[in-house]
Amino acid sequence: MIRFDKVTKRFGAHTVLDALDMTVHSGKHVTLIGPSGSGKTTILRLMMTLLKPDEGTIMFNGDYLTHEEKGGRLVPAGERHSRAVRRNIGMVFQQFNLFPNMKVLRNITEAPVHVLGLAKDAAEERARELLDLVGLTDHLDKYPGQLSGGQQQRVAIARALAMRPKVLLLDEVTSALDPELVAGVLDVLRDIARSTDITLLCVTHEMNFARDISDCVMMFDAGRVIEFGPPEQIFTAPEHERTREFLSAVL
Ligand code: ATP
Repeated sequence: MIRFDKVTKRFGAHTVLDALDMTVHSGKHVTLIGPSGSGKTTILRLMMTLLKPDEGTIMFNGDYLTHEEKGGRLVPAGERHSRAVRRNIGMVFQQFNLFPNMKVLRNITEAPVHVLGLAKDAAEERARELLDLVGLTDHLDKYPGQLSGGQQQRVAIARALAMRPKVLLLDEVTSALDPELVAGVLDVLRDIARSTDITLLCVTHEMNFARDISDCVMMFDAGRVIEFGPPEQIFTAPEHERTREFLSAVL
C-alpha cells in the first residue's frame, strides 16, 4: 500500500501539492487525471524520491519513503534509506531515457546485474522473456537509436519490469510518441495490467486506456484529489463540476 499523508510540495511560492492525502492499495491500477500543472507528475517524482516533500509523509508497504527513524525520532530519509525502499518501485518516463550506447538486451540487464547482483545469464534469460512480452524479441541486438519511439518505450517498460517492481509508475508514457505508435505501447501495458499483480500508478491523457485498465481514477485539481472512483463512475457520472469540465475538454 502507498499512502500519502498530508503531503505538501512547493516550488518557490507555488504550492503544487496541498496537504494531499492519498491511498493506493497493493495490486490496484490507479490513474491520475487532471489539468496540466495540477501536480500529477510531481506525485510520481515524490514516490521515486526524485523530489522531497516540504511537509507530510509517504509510506510504502509499512516503510516511510520520505523519512527514517533515528534515535526514536522521525527524520528526513537519507539517500541509503530512500534507495532501499524505492527498490520496489519502477518508473517509465515520457522520454524513454534508455542508455543510448548500450544494445537493447544490455539496457534491460544492466540494473538487475549491477543493482540486484543477478548473474548475467539469469538476467539475460529474464530480459529475453520480457522482450517477448513487449514484442521485441527480434530487436535485442540493436541500439536504441535504431528503434522507433514506440519500440524504445516498450524497451523502457521491459527494463523497468526487469527489476521486478511491486509498483510501476507510468508518466505519460505515450505523450512523446507519434500517434500511430501509441496503440502498440498501450496494448503492452494492458497486457501487463491483466497478467501481473503489479500495482500501477499511471498519469495519462489516454482516457480510453484509463477506462480499460483502471480500478480507480483520481481527478486532480490544484494539488488535491477532488474526486475518485471506478472509471464507470468518473467517466460517465462525475459528481464534481471541475471533473465534468475537464472531461468534456478531453473526451
Ligand atoms: P502535466 O499534465 O502538464 O504534465 P502535471 O499535473 O503532471 O501536469 P506537474 O508536472 O506535477 O503537473 O507540475 C505541477 C506544477 O509544478 C506545474 O506548475 C509545474 O510548472 C511546477 N513544477 C514542476 N516541477 C518543477 C520544478 N522542478 N521547479 C519549479 N516548478 C516545477
